[in-house]
Amino acid sequence: LAGRDPECIFCQIITDEAEASFVYRDEVVTAFMDLFPVNAGHLLVVPNEHTMLIDGIEEDTLREMFSVSRMLAGGLRRSGLRCEGVNLLLADGRSAGQVILHSHLHVIPRFHGDECGLRLHAGPIKESSRAELEAVASRLRNVLSQP
Ligand SMILES: [Zn+2]
Repeated sequence: LAGRDPECIFCQIITDEAEASFVYRDEVVTAFMDLFPVNAGHLLVVPNEHTMLIDGIEEDTLREMFSVSRMLAGGLRRSGLRCEGVNLLLADGRSAGQVILHSHLHVIPRFHGDECGLRLHAGPIKESSRAELEAVASRLRNVLSQP
């Protein structure tokens, strides 16, 4: 398999050298149960090709990751597992909490009162001014308009 890292646990899972509980597999993505589930049904959707960041993932593969994640979220809702909502989470880079350095999308079933500590604001929530938002938006528009 092209784009494979022999040291990577996800590459080993994709090539059946390491064990996993698979839910879905196709030519470009593989979905299996997270070994350390936040809640029962916690899944990972990974590109078959070893890539650390989403920057390196082919456009079609990225679409497939999200398409499969939506299908899995639907399956979780119909499964009888506790699933009142679903979080899709992709930690892109170590600072963002990425531990396994093979890009992966978490599909996490959620229910009221579960013990998932996912939160965006660890500190107090402050509303930005329109001027601050526009300054940042302008900076990003400039970057994105460059090839
Ligand atoms: Zn890998």
